[in-house]
Amino acid sequence: MINTIQHTLKTVFGFHGFRPPQQEVIERVVAGEDVFLVMPTGGGKSLCYQIPALHRAGVAIVVSPLISLMKDQVDALLANGVRAACFNSSLSNDEARTVSRQMEKGELDLLYVAPERLMQPEFLERLATLKLALFAIDEAHCISQWGHDFRPDYVQIGRLRGLFPVVPIVAMTATADPETRRDIIRQLGIEQATVYVAGFDRPNITYTVMPKQKPFAQLGAFLNGRRAEAGIVYALSRKRVEQVAERLNAAGFAAAAYHAGLPDEERRRVQDAFRRDDLRIVVATVAFGMGIDKPNVRFVVHYDMPKSVESYYQETGRAGRDGLPSEALMLFGMGDVMTARSLIENSDNPERVRIELQKLNAMVAYAEALTCRRRALLAYFGDQRDHDCDNCDICTDPPQRFDASELARKAISCVYRVGERFGARHIIDVLRGARGQRILDLRHNELSTYGIGAELSSAEWDNIIRQLIHLGYLVQDFSRFGALGLSPSARPVLKGETRVTLGRPRDVAKAEEKSRRKSGAGEGAHSALFEALRTVRKQIADAASVPPFVVFSDATLVEMAKGRPRDERELLSITGVGEHKLRRYGVQFLTAIDEFRRSEAPGGDISDSGLSLNDTRRDTFRLYQQGLSLAEIAARRGLKELTVVSHLEELLASGQHIDLQRFVDADKIPLIEARLEALGAVSLTVLKDGLPESISYCDLRLVRGAWSNHP
Ligand code: ADP
Ligand code: ZN
Repeated sequence: MINTIQHTLKTVFGFHGFRPPQQEVIERVVAGEDVFLVMPTGGGKSLCYQIPALHRAGVAIVVSPLISLMKDQVDALLANGVRAACFNSSLSNDEARTVSRQMEKGELDLLYVAPERLMQPEFLERLATLKLALFAIDEAHCISQWGHDFRPDYVQIGRLRGLFPVVPIVAMTATADPETRRDIIRQLGIEQATVYVAGFDRPNITYTVMPKQKPFAQLGAFLNGRRAEAGIVYALSRKRVEQVAERLNAAGFAAAAYHAGLPDEERRRVQDAFRRDDLRIVVATVAFGMGIDKPNVRFVVHYDMPKSVESYYQETGRAGRDGLPSEALMLFGMGDVMTARSLIENSDNPERVRIELQKLNAMVAYAEALTCRRRALLAYFGDQRDHDCDNCDICTDPPQRFDASELARKAISCVYRVGERFGARHIIDVLRGARGQRILDLRHNELSTYGIGAELSSAEWDNIIRQLIHLGYLVQDFSRFGALGLSPSARPVLKGETRVTLGRPRDVAKAEEKSRRKSGAGEGAHSALFEALRTVRKQIADAASVPPFVVFSDATLVEMAKGRPRDERELLSITGVGEHKLRRYGVQFLTAIDEFRRSEAPGGDISDSGLSLNDTRRDTFRLYQQGLSLAEIAARRGLKELTVVSHLEELLASGQHIDLQRFVDADKIPLIEARLEALGAVSLTVLKDGLPESISYCDLRLVRGAWSNHP
């Protein structure tokens, strides 16, 4: 059995090995057992039911909450030659009838169904008469009220186990919360299920937090280094989303806004354009969420701080589902914290306020942390790591610590002098000796602390004050617009009795430069060949009305651009190229790679043979190099096979390296060669005379070509 599921993995999906725990899960489901699978986005859940669907008799029923996602999944399966369809409200009557017929005739391996469709009595009755391979419940957390995305439609699915006691159920989710997990198992009645919890780490995502100073300029600098890449920019309010999108467009970035206040049609348009690589940047509120399964989202930027670590992790998780290096950048400023706090505190449900403030504090602590981001994140989800990740801003550019006692004393005494009634902005103005009207009105220019901190920039002071708050020397009163006050631990600092060590404020410009350099070196993803392959993919996808990732993933194109396969066999060894896709798209990609190779070395492989570049034989040779058979070359070129053979003969005669054995049986070659040795280059008819019937004129021509080059 292991061999056969491995065979399916290779030939159908074009993958070379399973990721943990795919193989175990698949084996269990093939054997008819229930499985509950918790795996992060991009972990590879789909294979865990798709391969069993191909290894068990009958049709697999896949429950999925969103019609747009269903369609992508089905398109992706069809592209791999798997018999799949979806059944939902988007189908016309005719289409629905066709799908029903296919289902009844056993012509489908997988059927994707919306939950409300599935649980209609007539549909259930129909299913009862069919052989069912399995039920797969995608986004299973939608069944739980504990989850973050409860859907009433899902509740009914809980009846499946009772209705179909012997059909295995695979339930899948990316939700980390143990409470929700228990609830899902109970609701689905799959207490027997083996539970697999794959790690939550997303090693290909680089986490970075930057102090928010000039957010739009910071965003622009980030995007500038990533001109060809797709990504999402999250902002907290609709208004901000629209502003940022507008400014980006004005600055020459193709960006669109997305939020719940826009008409359905516009939202669909944006989502579609993004999926199809027609739109690079979406600026969105969190409303831009579950419908996004685009695998090649290269970055997620949080323009504003998210409300909780859970949302942050979920939103950043939309980057890099294809496993390629991706980035999560958050701009973090104290102003955001104050806004979020006052929003939360406006609620009149004290229990809710308490929980949400806790979540917010955890988020702030993460943003301010001076330890490995990934460790902090994973620890939050209960996954303690004992080593740093080497792939976050803290790891790659560790904050330097320094004795900040003197600076701390200046800041704290300034807070004290202004009567503990002003926020950080004002404190910084006083420290730096600003001459604003407000300062003069308040006569704060007469304070002893006025201008004692002119040696630091506003940004640096902001950073220091933030750290002093974080470490508990200063407290911020949110009911008084963030006014700063002293905590008891500030006194010893003022008196010089305690020393204060802080992280050195990062030089933002330097950090940006560093991250740009890093992404510039981005492993072939930006090579010219990758771009050429991307263009081929886009043309194929548009012609078939599917998103580009259905044709091949970015990961596959990157591997192609690096490996530069020359023929079908080599192309098949690329991850993501299965037999079906090889037949469908192989020639187009091989041709593009070949053309690219030629453009690098003008004249290419064939120049030294003296053939002119636009020679028809050259086209034949190119197709030969792609591994096509005689018949295929002839068909592609619209020539007779014999003409192709004559091209090959001439190429052979001129010394081109052509593998004779691809066209002529190995045991025929010596017979023909012997006759050529005996008779010399005589006519084909003479040559053929006396040779076995099975030897054709094509055989003779090809061997003659090769022989004449090495007489
Ligand atoms: P999930 O549903 O868990 O978010 P998917 O099933 O969509 O994730 O898989 C994410 C990506 O990983 C897809 O591009 C998929 O083709 C790829 N993938 C999954 N399993 C493998 C594997 N064994 N080898 C290589 N790529 C894989
Ligand atoms: Zn790290």
